[in-house]
Amino acid sequence: MRWQGNRESSNVDDRRGKGAGGLAVGGGIGTIVIAVIYLLLGGNPSDVVNQVIQQPSTESTQPRSAAEEKLASFTKVVLGLTEQVWDSIYRADGEQYKHPSLVLFTEQTQSGCGFASAASGPFYCPADEQVYIDLSFFTDLSEKFNAPGELAMAYVIAHEVGHHIQHLRGTSTKVQNLRSSLSEKEYNKLSVKLELQADFLAGVWAHHANKLKQIIEPGDIEAALAAANAIGDDRLQQQSGGNIVPDAFTHGTSKQRMYWFKKGFETGDIKQGNTFESLAIE
Ligand SMILES: [Zn+2]
Repeated sequence: MRWQGNRESSNVDDRRGKGAGGLAVGGGIGTIVIAVIYLLLGGNPSDVVNQVIQQPSTESTQPRSAAEEKLASFTKVVLGLTEQVWDSIYRADGEQYKHPSLVLFTEQTQSGCGFASAASGPFYCPADEQVYIDLSFFTDLSEKFNAPGELAMAYVIAHEVGHHIQHLRGTSTKVQNLRSSLSEKEYNKLSVKLELQADFLAGVWAHHANKLKQIIEPGDIEAALAAANAIGDDRLQQQSGGNIVPDAFTHGTSKQRMYWFKKGFETGDIKQGNTFESLAIE
């Protein structure tokens, strides 16, 4: 994938090395408890203040590897390319695209949707309109899921931005509102359709990003499809040793995910993405 030289998005909140919510974990609760006990025992408050100030910050001062910095820069460029593509699609409809922001974190962080850990994988939180990504997921993509390639990583980012588009268009709210009136099984089917539409929107993005910036090189689409194939819920369940139970899927099968990404990429037409079919969601 040809991405170098493109503008990096400025809508990135880089929290790498900052722990959950940027709190100084080592100096936090433990220090406060000790300080309170010390004061209860008649200690001098100024000692406590000095002690707390001297606590070393847990912010990592270790230099980051060139490979990690490249990955961070890649993520910012891909987000920038999603802004360019969705800006122009919205503009064509006489509307303005509201940009999401992206949080880069390591291990854990706070989100508007609760506590996030690296294990939860990339996700979009509609409450704060932010995409959350721990860069280690990209290493997993190539090593654990055997889906290497930059377009495969870009597809993951574009899928999360796809959820932002669904949030802006009110699609995810409509699905959410049906939750209480549907059985668990029926609701799950709808959330699969929502996921497949995010795959479709990632395909639409790839189509237009390529038109604008010629990002796609031979083999890239196959790599992105391999990622869609590798991270389908049936594959994830197989890899974790579970039995495949179609009703427990939340993202769709590998085949469905590949189908919708490809359809978005080939048509580039946002109107072709009604994964809900006859359901009056779209
Ligand atoms: Zn998703």
